[in-house]
Amino acid sequence: MQDELIQRDQRVNWHPYTQMKHDVSIPIVRGEGSYLFDANGKRYIDAVSSWWVTLHGHAHPSITQRVSEQLATLEQVIFAGFTHPTAIELSERLLALLPDNQTKVFYTDNGSTAIEVALKMCVQYHYQNQQSKTKILAFKNGYHGDTFGAMSVSGRGLWTAPFGELLFDVIFIDVPTQANLAQTKAFIATHAHEIACFVYEPLVQGAGGMLMHKAADLSELMEFCKHQGILLIQDEIFVGFGRTGKLFAVDHLTETPDIMCFSKGLTGGTMPLGITTATQAIYDAFYADDKTKALFHGHSFTANPLACAAALASLDLLLNAETTHNIQRIVAQHQGFVALLKHHPKIKEVRFQGTIFALEWKTDENTSYFSDMNQALYPFFLERGILMRPLGNIIYLVPPYCISETDLGFVYKTILEALDQI
Ligand SMILES: *Cc1c(COP(=O)(O)O)cnc(C)c1O
Repeated sequence: MQDELIQRDQRVNWHPYTQMKHDVSIPIVRGEGSYLFDANGKRYIDAVSSWWVTLHGHAHPSITQRVSEQLATLEQVIFAGFTHPTAIELSERLLALLPDNQTKVFYTDNGSTAIEVALKMCVQYHYQNQQSKTKILAFKNGYHGDTFGAMSVSGRGLWTAPFGELLFDVIFIDVPTQANLAQTKAFIATHAHEIACFVYEPLVQGAGGMLMHKAADLSELMEFCKHQGILLIQDEIFVGFGRTGKLFAVDHLTETPDIMCFSKGLTGGTMPLGITTATQAIYDAFYADDKTKALFHGHSFTANPLACAAALASLDLLLNAETTHNIQRIVAQHQGFVALLKHHPKIKEVRFQGTIFALEWKTDENTSYFSDMNQALYPFFLERGILMRPLGNIIYLVPPYCISETDLGFVYKTILEALDQI
């Protein structure tokens, strides 16, 4: 059955981030907790939460139940001119967990579109306040999604090369360190009059290679941008919902952003959903008798009730004592493993932030997504029943919070074997 599914898949499907000539996609027929099962019955530990989305494991019974009930009640309704109780409840509950300055929720259906909305909010905000600020500030090596606006504000490289001419101009800066902050601030100050907003991944730059920076340094940079009249868009699409060891990355910071973006873990990884939250001041710039001042953005499936129901069930799970305990246990296990690897001769750097662990393998080439290391590492782990997806020569772990202590230990042991054998 496995081979037949692979053949049928290759005949009709075109997969994301996949060189179709080389890569075979493994048919998965079932998921349970932190495991995936292929059509031959082989079990894989999902050590990357299926692209960083699955918070509480696969096919979680309480999410399944809540979505099923919603499915039998109201599966979809247009969100312009209509609303529904599930979206109202989700907005109320999410806002209660965010900094007090976040007062409004705008729904979309994935991370990239949550970013598009955030950018459009900022640019239109200044437009409606008669200010010509249209430039965006962003970190080098950032990743904010694959639509054109999100691509424009992401780090430029081989992924974006074919579209270079079509991407809008962005002012890129390095992530903050005590060594570069003074210089970065001086640079920003010279451009501040034209900058609409600063979009950034807080604490961890995920797709860029699980690169990490310090909360205190980011807070200092945020404070400076605020004083320069630059709106802050905090992209918590990856790091939100417990990944950093706290509920949100913002909980590590002393400053609050103007806009926040969420997706990935928002529904526990069950349904696609995106959220952009905003301050009252931003919302108020659109609130007018003049109809043309509305935010003209929307998607067919905006605030889909099934996705909102999944998000509510996921929030319940996230806030319960067992999950909190699991998150702290994963953090402690990562900490022990990092200490063990610190001086390994094959490792360039090992780092972690909360439940996110990353190891940079020494290679002759520069660190890169297209590093050949990937071709050796990815199958090595798959053969041993572990789904990991190294970013070139960077191995990382983003496990679902329900992963057992034993399974996480097995993953570490397998990484040590890889270090020995590859
Ligand atoms: C994945 C990701 C996005 C894009 O989300 P999609 O749902 O894949 O469009 C944006 N920002 C960050 C930080 C991400 O990790």
